[in-house]
Amino acid sequence: MAGKTYKTEGIVLRSIRYGEADRILHLYTRERGRIGAIAKGVRKPKSRFGGRLEPFFRLSLVLHRGRGDLSTVSAAETIEGYPELRSSGRAIAAASDACGAVLRLLEGTGPNEAAYNLLCRYLGLLDADPDGPLASGPGMVAFRLKLALAAGFGPELAAFATCGSSEEVAGFSGAAGGVVCAGCGAGSFALSPEGHAFMVEAIGNPLAELPEADEMAVRQAGRAIGETLEHHAHVRLPRPEARKAA
Ligand SMILES: [Zn+2]
Repeated sequence: MAGKTYKTEGIVLRSIRYGEADRILHLYTRERGRIGAIAKGVRKPKSRFGGRLEPFFRLSLVLHRGRGDLSTVSAAETIEGYPELRSSGRAIAAASDACGAVLRLLEGTGPNEAAYNLLCRYLGLLDADPDGPLASGPGMVAFRLKLALAAGFGPELAAFATCGSSEEVAGFSGAAGGVVCAGCGAGSFALSPEGHAFMVEAIGNPLAELPEADEMAVRQAGRAIGETLEHHAHVRLPRPEARKAA
């Protein structure tokens, strides 16, 4: 067969039925970043792939790259299936949101091991505690903040994005990509000290150490990262911050 066969490890971000028995997969791989693949015959009862080409599966893959844009899946073994995650509607929604953010934000950017590891860690934590805080709005916003940082779109939270004044943080500007003082407030929205603290801690802490925050703080943080990604990555993601804490 012409083309190139290669091995990679990846997470299934999305899996779409195609034709009579096939599936098109959106994968996020450790070695190559985002790739598309087709799995043939996967929906036949005796498919050698079983049920593992579904969203959130972490797989060891053998792929064949021919002339088209899509690789063909030759073999797939499960590294992690995250069965507990799949038992909870909340965890499934959070995992879907995370995979959707990776799909949109890291399209065509090549490999990003930090982002790959972050996604694996988030899915693992959701599997360990499927109805815990990481499956609610604060956890989803924290994931998104850390993903933005891994993708090179981390917001400026320590110094003012537009001036060198030493006033207190008054707002957040998506266009400026960070916090602003009252004098530079045009085009910004109000950011409370709690919202600011949540962002700083969520980015700085491991995912497992989700900072305490009220709903307003989480909503502000979600809006801040959403507007930053709109302005700088040109990606508009759905808003997870409205989801109530567990
Ligand atoms: Zn200023």
